[in-house]
Amino acid sequence: MSNQTVLQELENSSFELTEEQKDIRQYVREFAEAVIAPRSAQIDEDAKFPFDIFKEMVNNGLVGMPYPEKYGGGEADPVTECILVEELSRVDLSCGLVCMVNNLGAKPIMIGGSDEQNKKFITPIASGEKLCAFGLTESGAGSDFMGIRTKAVKKGDKYIINGSKLFISHGNVADIVTVFAKTEPSAGIRGLSCFVVEKNSPGFSVGKTEHKLGIRGSETAELIFEDMEIPAENLLGSEGSGWKIAMNTLDHSRPGVGAQGVGVAQGALDYAFKYAQERVQFNQPIGNFEAVQNMLVDMAIRTEAARMLVYKAAMAVHNDHRDKSMYSSLAKAFGGDTAMKVTTDAVQVLGGYGYTKEFPVERMMRDAKITQIYEGTNQIQRLVVSRHLIKNYK
Ligand SMILES: Cc1cc2nc3c(=O)[nH]c(=O)nc-3n(C[C@H](O)[C@H](O)[C@H](O)COP(=O)(O)OP(=O)(O)OC[C@H]3O[C@@H](n4cnc5c(N)ncnc54)[C@H](O)[C@@H]3O)c2cc1C
Repeated sequence: MSNQTVLQELENSSFELTEEQKDIRQYVREFAEAVIAPRSAQIDEDAKFPFDIFKEMVNNGLVGMPYPEKYGGGEADPVTECILVEELSRVDLSCGLVCMVNNLGAKPIMIGGSDEQNKKFITPIASGEKLCAFGLTESGAGSDFMGIRTKAVKKGDKYIINGSKLFISHGNVADIVTVFAKTEPSAGIRGLSCFVVEKNSPGFSVGKTEHKLGIRGSETAELIFEDMEIPAENLLGSEGSGWKIAMNTLDHSRPGVGAQGVGVAQGALDYAFKYAQERVQFNQPIGNFEAVQNMLVDMAIRTEAARMLVYKAAMAVHNDHRDKSMYSSLAKAFGGDTAMKVTTDAVQVLGGYGYTKEFPVERMMRDAKITQIYEGTNQIQRLVVSRHLIKNYK
């Protein structure tokens, strides 16, 4: 590809939501404000997975939205998935993860699984009967996930898996986990495989759960596999296809992390804007002061720009665009950085009150930080983008 082509493709991006996508945004927004907003502070305080909210999401058709119709899902396209996550995260990022983590865990099955595996595992995830998690990270394998030490050995009609996973969102509450393990440790990327693990598998246990800064309603757990036995038929694709499945999954899911960032930024901006009209100092609303106005406008600029980039990346994934990995990383990095900057500025607009738990922007700022870290830190996203640009600008 020439330099010209890359630049043209970045410049020629325009975007208009469909009427259906606009309706879904409105529907999810009303749901989030009515059902989640009154519970957010308590969910943060309790630091437990909000099963009541999950149930409401199932009953209102939100949990099943991203899955294929033939497995009982709503067949939402990637842009609609981002709108769903964005609107939930606008009110509460932890609750955005209720849908998002399920989808992340299920993606390897949808990407690498057979029709039979999809029928068996995706159908109960789409119906809300089962929760799913994604098991890639280990204590020694974070940014460099090829450092995975969990090992799977085939014995007859079973795989025996030994190892552990760290920082697994919903690992302690999930019924199904997609687990990446080495089937041939000396074979590099061709030695990684992906398996569906059910929580009742002999040898499966949950280790510690983390005490976290934010997204406290999304529990994060360690998983331990000691001679864990799973049926050989739970291998996704063939032995050695794990790296491809993992990369493909992340291409799909990273725009969604960008959407979490956009959502929490929008929630913080909305709150700060309203506050600035109401809070009076020097006999006038603080929103009259140019310094405050500039802060609010800069927050709006970043949030809207991040939103467009997220939708663009979701479209690239939807169309299987050759540069989809780059767009996904751009959206994830900018969405996350926007979330951190905008929520921090929202606290600033609220002054001392913003720093207290009386107001939601404090929680939003703590929640926002994770969007710069998980699914590949924003340094790693920049690495992905720079490699892509170097390769294509030769
Ligand atoms: C709340 C939470 C939920 C999570 N959920 C999941 C989950 O559901 N499933 C899952 O598999 N994982 C999950 N993770 C793991 C997450 O994806 C990793 O934490 C993340 O990828 C970073 O890995 P690490 O923590 O080992 O950091 P490290 O890789 O040790 O990185 C530490 C620092 O070094 C920088 N760094 C590392 N390598 C480079 C490089 N080459 N160039 C530049 N900088 C570099 C990083 O950017 C970072 O700033 C979760 C983590 C958290 C905190």
